[in-house]
Amino acid sequence: MMSYKYNNNHKKMSTHKYCKDCKEVLPIDDFYKAGKYRQSRCKPCYNKHTHGNLKRARAIYKLKNPPKKKLNGFQKLSDDQKAELLKYLGTMPMVNVANMVGLNKYTLLRWKKKKYFPETEYFKYPLKPNPQ
Ligand SMILES: [Zn+2]
Repeated sequence: MMSYKYNNNHKKMSTHKYCKDCKEVLPIDDFYKAGKYRQSRCKPCYNKHTHGNLKRARAIYKLKNPPKKKLNGFQKLSDDQKAELLKYLGTMPMVNVANMVGLNKYTLLRWKKKKYFPETEYFKYPLKPNPQ
């Protein structure tokens, strides 16, 4: 009799489980496996719990690593390179500028399109060819 009772209890124990968050006894399949055992929270509670942890971790990471201001390609150039580039811009075709400063012409064209170059007189007042 004792043995039957124990077995019955054991069976009940392994098919249902108490969730420590929603405090309900739920079928064992409502719990994620954790190796040999099951999580102590049911699936919805576990997801809520870990999602909260994830959110908190992300918030902490953001606080510790504030987003850096991203420099565009032009801003990454050295001051000398920038000066040289701006000196030639608008005075000759972009291909020639690219050759002069040693950059790819498509890169320069993209920078121009994205308005990476600071507004300079070279753009506002393109040089006119010298009258011969
Ligand atoms: Zn639960």
